[in-house]
Amino acid sequence: MAGLEIYRAKRNFKVTAEPRGRVHREKTKARRFVIHRHAATRLHFDFRLELGGVYKSWAVTKVPSLDPATKRLAVEVEDHPVEYGTFEGIIPKGQYGGGTVQLWDHGAWEPQGDDPEGDLKKGQLKIVLYGERLRGKWALIRLRDQPGKSGRSTRHNWLLIKEKDDEARPGDPESLLAEDTSISTGRTLEEIAGAKKPRVWQSNRGGGDEVSTARAPGARAGSKKKKPTKLKKTAKKTA
Ligand code: MN
Repeated sequence: MAGLEIYRAKRNFKVTAEPRGRVHREKTKARRFVIHRHAATRLHFDFRLELGGVYKSWAVTKVPSLDPATKRLAVEVEDHPVEYGTFEGIIPKGQYGGGTVQLWDHGAWEPQGDDPEGDLKKGQLKIVLYGERLRGKWALIRLRDQPGKSGRSTRHNWLLIKEKDDEARPGDPESLLAEDTSISTGRTLEEIAGAKKPRVWQSNRGGGDEVSTARAPGARAGSKKKKPTKLKKTAKKTA
């Protein structure tokens, strides 16, 4: 059952600009996906699929690979609210996930099978992505929990794998590494971190079918010269 209890318990919404969000009624058509590039303790890619009224979420440890032979580790993390799908900005230092968050890809997705919730439970979810950077067929495959470790943590490891199709780039696993700008605002992580204020906004359209390509209000208005040195340093250290 989808829920946001863990998501909310990890965050102090008086401090972070991340949305509190809510569980939405499931809409079967035009499910959305979003990928956040997140410079936290380590740079990673948060892969989120809208399902059951929330974003099912995985932290992918390296840039997603278009090479079907290159599997990426995807650590299951807590469900996120769909309001998170338009979040871009700074999570204050000391908060959960503290660092800079960039909208790296978004679009619609659909399951290859007719029971994505069941496939997710089984640990074999095959999907089609219609994003700007990730397209075509992909698979999420859950790995077996390591003996003795499953009791200590509720986290499960998965693999994110590009399936063979016209969108695949065999033999070129790092082809997306150069893609370092926001698909929403065009900013790099450093530009997001150096903004005068966190460029964070919340969608009031939550639950809509359309994928938002809206730019943060005033996203480009801030002077890049005013850089809070603390944040700048953090971004450099973790990027
Ligand atoms: Mn993250």
